[in-house]
Amino acid sequence: MENKILTIPKVDKILSLPTMISLLATHPRPTMLTAVRNVLETLRVDSVNGKMREPMNESHLCCLIEAELDNLIAPNLHAVVNGTGVVIHTNLGRSLLAKSACRQMLDVAERYSNLEMDMATGERGERYSHVESLICELTGAEAALVVNNNAAAVLLALSALAGGREVVVSRGELVEIGGSFRIPDVMRLSGAILKEVGTTNRTHLKDYQRAVSENTALLLKVHTSNFSVVGFTAEVSIEQLVTCGRDAGIPVMADVGSGSLLDLTRYGIVGETPLQEYIKAGVDIVTCSGDKMLGGPQAGIILGKMEIITRLRKEQLLRALRIDKLTLAALEATLRFYRDERQAVAEIPTLRMLTVQPDALRAKATLYLRRIRPRIPSSVTLSVVEGHSQVGGGSLPLLELPTFLLVVTVEDRSPEQIDASFRKGKTPVLGRINKGRYLLDLRTLQDADIPAVIEAMNVIS
Ligand SMILES: *Cc1c(COP(=O)(O)O)cnc(C)c1O
Repeated sequence: MENKILTIPKVDKILSLPTMISLLATHPRPTMLTAVRNVLETLRVDSVNGKMREPMNESHLCCLIEAELDNLIAPNLHAVVNGTGVVIHTNLGRSLLAKSACRQMLDVAERYSNLEMDMATGERGERYSHVESLICELTGAEAALVVNNNAAAVLLALSALAGGREVVVSRGELVEIGGSFRIPDVMRLSGAILKEVGTTNRTHLKDYQRAVSENTALLLKVHTSNFSVVGFTAEVSIEQLVTCGRDAGIPVMADVGSGSLLDLTRYGIVGETPLQEYIKAGVDIVTCSGDKMLGGPQAGIILGKMEIITRLRKEQLLRALRIDKLTLAALEATLRFYRDERQAVAEIPTLRMLTVQPDALRAKATLYLRRIRPRIPSSVTLSVVEGHSQVGGGSLPLLELPTFLLVVTVEDRSPEQIDASFRKGKTPVLGRINKGRYLLDLRTLQDADIPAVIEAMNVIS
């Protein structure tokens, strides 16, 4: 064992090999050193575990180092192929941005911008002004503000409006989203005091009315976006809550989570109340995410009454939660599409993928098969079946959208082996396994993904 460990060459000796010298001409020395050390460490561990082959071959060593160098240079955060069919996949980056949103972002990134300057007066302006009037125009709200994400929006609202005072929430709405956002925790962080009312499955108007005291700052409604309570249930409608708040002189807030600007019922997407409805119902402040159903960048959108939004604007916390200019550029470009519903559905990838009809997905399947089949080995076979996809992003958990799927089978490989191999490619391919079959959902596959899919099918064979 000891002998084998000692046979691993020294770093200096490796760096003096001709292959390494030529690599040093084009790569920074510290990066080369990291690559060499990483490879040697792996070899050391292999050797201790008795996995190392003897003797150490010089050219093999150089190959390992070159591969590690490629690894170090390549971006860690990179594109993947989403074949899962989950449109708003939080772990895969939620919404894809529209082309024009990307262009707008690039323009603002490469050049100076009017981020915080009013060009009419030459004086200091507000970064929030770039989207405020657009949000108001689209929703009918009096005022709006945008921050880093919806968690930040909720935190800011609670601390500005209810710090040290009570916020009344139904026990059925104390949600957790994606493990890191929990209403009770955000409440604690904001300094507001949680006043739970009702039960997990049933909350009535009288529960809210009884909970109200001189120490109540806010009535909060949280959209239970990522789960469903079915059976013997009751919840207070937003209209009832608004009336209750008016009677008591207490503002009403709604954290709607996903946030939609369109009624997508006619596309078979039922269950998301558009933001406009909350405003029309008289809710004082509404918050939602920018990158869920809205299909924009990560952002938190806050809209509502002028007086309330003005209080939020004065918070010191806003500075820590503020939206950055690239996000702002992408958000503005995304929101602009909503002036025309047809354009929004056609141009915003999230909406396009959610509303695409099964016929179009079947046609896409035929087209993709025609492109992929001639370029893959005979050990890989493809077929098309019908199935269902999910919205994701904690939105509409019960909704099943009819779709078409590519079934991938590989000789002598289990679906789990296909999945593992596909995930490890330079551009990883993610699918799903259902009833012993490896599937790629055409809903979330993009034209640009085809080369990576072909590559994955060639690597595995
Ligand atoms: C998703 C969600 C959040 C968190 O939003 P982020 O934009 O991810 O910070 C908060 N509340 C509800 C109801 C949500 O669905």
